[in-house]
Amino acid sequence: MDIHTWYKDQVTERLLRYAAINTESKRGSDAVPSTPGQWDLLNMLLDELRDIGVKDVDLNENGYLIARVPASDPSCSSAPVTAFMAHVDTSEDVSGAGVRPRVIRGYDGGDIPLGDSLVLSPEQNPELNKYIGSDIITADGSTLLGADDKAGIAEIMTAVEYVLLHKPFPHGSFEIIFTPDEETGSGMDLFPRDALHAKSCYTLDGTGRGSLESECFNAVRIDVACIGVSYHLGSARGRMVNALTMAASLVSMLPQAESPEATDGRYGYYCPLKISGHVERTELQVYIRDFDVLDAERRIEAVTQMAKAVEAAFPGGKVQLEVSWQYRNMREYIDKEPQVLLLLEEAIKAVGLTPEHTIIRGGTDGARLSAVGIPTPNIFTGGYNYHSRYEWASVDAMADASRVVVELIRLWAQVAEA
Ligand SMILES: [Zn+2]
Repeated sequence: MDIHTWYKDQVTERLLRYAAINTESKRGSDAVPSTPGQWDLLNMLLDELRDIGVKDVDLNENGYLIARVPASDPSCSSAPVTAFMAHVDTSEDVSGAGVRPRVIRGYDGGDIPLGDSLVLSPEQNPELNKYIGSDIITADGSTLLGADDKAGIAEIMTAVEYVLLHKPFPHGSFEIIFTPDEETGSGMDLFPRDALHAKSCYTLDGTGRGSLESECFNAVRIDVACIGVSYHLGSARGRMVNALTMAASLVSMLPQAESPEATDGRYGYYCPLKISGHVERTELQVYIRDFDVLDAERRIEAVTQMAKAVEAAFPGGKVQLEVSWQYRNMREYIDKEPQVLLLLEEAIKAVGLTPEHTIIRGGTDGARLSAVGIPTPNIFTGGYNYHSRYEWASVDAMADASRVVVELIRLWAQVAEA
């Protein structure tokens, strides 16, 4: 069997097995992880890692699995420790219960019927055209597939198995991290930072073949409270100040051309997200998103000025702002350790692909890790149409992603610790 076929068989078998476990996470749940199904997959991975020969595996009480592979050879023991991370949960946007993944062998370039009268068509998914003749995995139209992020898990596990069983080269120490509840935004809340030895990390949670991501938004939330003055409506003339009207006035000042619905690419935006209240007090949430931190700061200043303008237009009323930084563009942290990205580009080239930098118009667990001193870019998984019944994965691209992990392990072994 040639090696690419081995990779394809391994990632396929694993994705099918992991996808069948319902790991849908749930916002607002009090449990940790948010749903019990995530434990089933975590326990399966724990056993599987031990079977492959990884002895140092710990699954903690909050559902974080951290495994450490020691250096294979004293000559590599001073190489910097790197890590690979993926999340076990799937989005609650579409059901993850009873996923029945199917493998379409030798895709013929036509429409793929998914069942439930859904069709995955190359017209709407031109990426499919890149994979004519090769194998594709979909669900059956009633659920998502869960390639986000079980493709990433399958790729990491396959890479680890390859490195430990085939011993293709001496390697340094590296770590494997599987986390719960990425989709609820809580994936990093209880992350055991101190358990990690890694100086860098790579998430396998991207999409199209060859792509890598090292930039995400800077994210700011502004909680606005408009304080009005209430009187009986029958005798309000000249005295009442309506907080609802104040809040509406502030919303109308936000530039519509700089909203999420009017921007893409590198453009940032303002977005009013939530409004609730009454005459005396109305609360409003405004999100600011920008790749450049100075742009985000400019927007904070703009909202501050708008608040003052509203106060001036509604004498007697008050507008209070509370500004919170939610996460930062990980680029500023990744740029401090250029080698992390350089080796990733080299690894992608080593498997015969051209690295394609894409940007994340959102956040990532990698951004949170980067902010605590572990630069963490994101690698493609070969999965597409995440959080959808139309989700699919290319087996060839998955095999390539797994080989990128192997290449990274090889490349980091050649780096001597400074
Ligand atoms: Zn994901």
